[in-house]
Amino acid sequence: MRDSVLVLVIEDDAAIRALLRVALEPAGYRVIEAANATDALGAVQVQTPQVVLLDLGLPDRDGLDLIAPLRKAGAAVLVVSARDAVAQKVAALDRGADDYVTKPFDTDEVLARVRTALRHRASPDVLAATLRFDDIEIDFAARVVRKAGGEVHLAPKEFALLAELAANAGKVVTHAQLLRTIWGPGHETDVEYLRVAARGIRRKLEGESTAPSRIRNEPGVGYRLAVAIAG
Ligand code: CA
Repeated sequence: MRDSVLVLVIEDDAAIRALLRVALEPAGYRVIEAANATDALGAVQVQTPQVVLLDLGLPDRDGLDLIAPLRKAGAAVLVVSARDAVAQKVAALDRGADDYVTKPFDTDEVLARVRTALRHRASPDVLAATLRFDDIEIDFAARVVRKAGGEVHLAPKEFALLAELAANAGKVVTHAQLLRTIWGPGHETDVEYLRVAARGIRRKLEGESTAPSRIRNEPGVGYRLAVAIAG
């Protein structure tokens, strides 16, 4: 049961608010709504939503300006916006949004992203564990990756990239975030490093597999480890 999870929908379009409510409530979420930024900031002072679905085009303020205060209030922030420009996605993610869905959206996709955001809230220490998907096992403590039981030798930067994506499994992580974390400040624009490392991981872990790669490229934005999120 998810009846304790409170979702705040910040959206000035009443039809979209209704659409999201109709998707969320049968899935067990409680829903509150705000039609503008002022009401939204008021709402988080009184209630404590665990998840916020945030429209960017609001009548009184740019939704981007709300990401930091909403995160400070303890909520996961999922942007749901018609703005599909890469720069807007990067700006939202770099300000701390958990994820980004563009309109028109598929409600099942929104629900899946909400579950992913909640899972990351519940267990931020995912790096302490072992992650398994397909025939792959990542043992973070031992820094060992196995495929079908056999050890796969990743270069240190390849392992670091895989670990960072796994720690954010299901969520997109921006180029700048990955480069800053793995290569350090000053390398935020060296996107080619990421391309090379991602290629290496795919080759070693996925080889000749014809299935879509688990290491998804979101052009101009970042990378996502596309693995099923339980629960
Ligand atoms: Ca709007």
